[in-house]
Amino acid sequence: MSTPLAEAASVTNTATNTPLIHHWIAGQSYPSSGQRTGNVHNPATGEVTARVTFAEAADVDHAVATAKTAFREWRATPLSRRAEIMFQLRALIETNRRRIAETLSLENGKTLSDAMGEVARGLENVEFACGIPHLLKGGYSEQSSRGVDVYQIRQPLGVVAGITPFNFPAMVPLWMMANAIACGNTFILKPSEKVPGASLILAELLQQAGLPDGVFNIVQGDRIAVDRLLEHPDVKAVSFVGSTAVAKSIYETATRHGKRVQALGGAKNHMLVLPDADLSMAADAAVSAGYGAAGERCMAISVVVAVGDIADPLIEAIRERVTKIKVGAGLAEGSEMGPLITREHRERVAGYLDSATSEGASIVVDGRTTKGDTGFFLGPSLLDRVQPRMRCYQDEIFGPVLSVVRVETYDEALKLINDNPYGNGTAIFTQNGGAARQFQFDVEVGMVGVNVPIPVPVSYYSFGGWKSSLFGDLHMYGPEGIQFYTRAKVVSSRWPDPSHSKVDLGFPQVR
Ligand code: NAD
Repeated sequence: MSTPLAEAASVTNTATNTPLIHHWIAGQSYPSSGQRTGNVHNPATGEVTARVTFAEAADVDHAVATAKTAFREWRATPLSRRAEIMFQLRALIETNRRRIAETLSLENGKTLSDAMGEVARGLENVEFACGIPHLLKGGYSEQSSRGVDVYQIRQPLGVVAGITPFNFPAMVPLWMMANAIACGNTFILKPSEKVPGASLILAELLQQAGLPDGVFNIVQGDRIAVDRLLEHPDVKAVSFVGSTAVAKSIYETATRHGKRVQALGGAKNHMLVLPDADLSMAADAAVSAGYGAAGERCMAISVVVAVGDIADPLIEAIRERVTKIKVGAGLAEGSEMGPLITREHRERVAGYLDSATSEGASIVVDGRTTKGDTGFFLGPSLLDRVQPRMRCYQDEIFGPVLSVVRVETYDEALKLINDNPYGNGTAIFTQNGGAARQFQFDVEVGMVGVNVPIPVPVSYYSFGGWKSSLFGDLHMYGPEGIQFYTRAKVVSSRWPDPSHSKVDLGFPQVR
């Protein structure tokens, strides 16, 4: 059977002899109207494994027109049928979990076990969307006035778009599209051009699940595709996940064009360790959350804030663990940490180690010594005595570099976290329940972990940071996702005896 990925791969670029990955529109592979393409790498080897076509504005227009046509039928499709398709999708993703994970690992570099985890966390959102008949139940007030009933229904918006980052090529699209589609919208995905493969597997599985053609579409590419989606009058809402500068610009541009927008940006996640914390547990957590996925997670811990005299033993416990991390290709047996996404990104991350030393931080573990002959590898690094004025503190590094900031008190630690422009995730490690509760009350961050280093909410809550980590009002997926992808309609209804009808120019009163 021909699959989107197989179809895409069957087209080779004659100039380079590598497979050319296309768009997916109206249930089939769709070539670009232009000639622009980008390279897809295997970050573990540095090789170009495919090329991906870049959409021109005309291709986006075609995808939007297709999705608009499909919307008429799809919004009228019964809830039970929409739920059935989500159940089918759930089963298909489960069956194809390893295949998706291998594609993630090959294009992104993450380890296979990490990629399997990504698929599992994406799948949760399909499971949530299986409950769509229940989730779309509105409210009903009988006898709001004499003989008048008032009820609220939630209706889909129309064509909605999702623009996604390189670090979660399957999970983040699933955060968006499972709820968007279940609510009755039609969807256009613009995946990261660095990792286009997983999106096509999802398209294939949605088709197999019974989703009508045109409900889910993909335009591959860069800013040209994004800009057209942002200004297109038939795109009603935009969900974005990526870096803060782009998130802010997407929010400003799309809202200016009258769209509903949720734009999730970058992060600088702090892990606060109080002196009474269990040392081993805190060190295990800091290493797992700091270096998992080579630090390329928006919920990665990038700063450990050590309070008081726990700093020295904590740094030693982290150092000991970091030196044992096995760096290797994502699909290689025993690898715990893979390469970074591109050569440029690797060099940029390594550059923070140069600047950290010149600004006065000390390097406890230097990952620059791990290079590898090929691929974009950088070993895990640990920095001590980092100060808020340093570049390595101020910027989102998005790599395997963990910084330790030493402070004397809880208040000092809290101020540091609250003064930071980002507010995605944070964690506190302590054995004192009262201190943890006070932190949860005080901290200005959207997602908080208490002895949990990566507090990504389960799919029946919603995901979102504060401050420069999110532009927009509603968080992603879960109940707020349903709210984002629908709009409320309130109906006031009465069935009076026509013989009692009369003209009354007064404003309607309810008593
Ligand atoms: P990115 O901002 O470079 O790209 C994200 C998407 O936007 C991609 O599809 C890309 O093609 C597109 N894009 C890039 N530049 C653009 C521009 N100038 N105009 C329009 N579109 C543009 O992000 P990335 O490097 O792919 O991903 C890493 C970033 O994403 C990190 O900052 C990370 O913290 C963030 N992230 C945040 C979350 C979250 O939930 N808050 C989750 C994952 C990743």
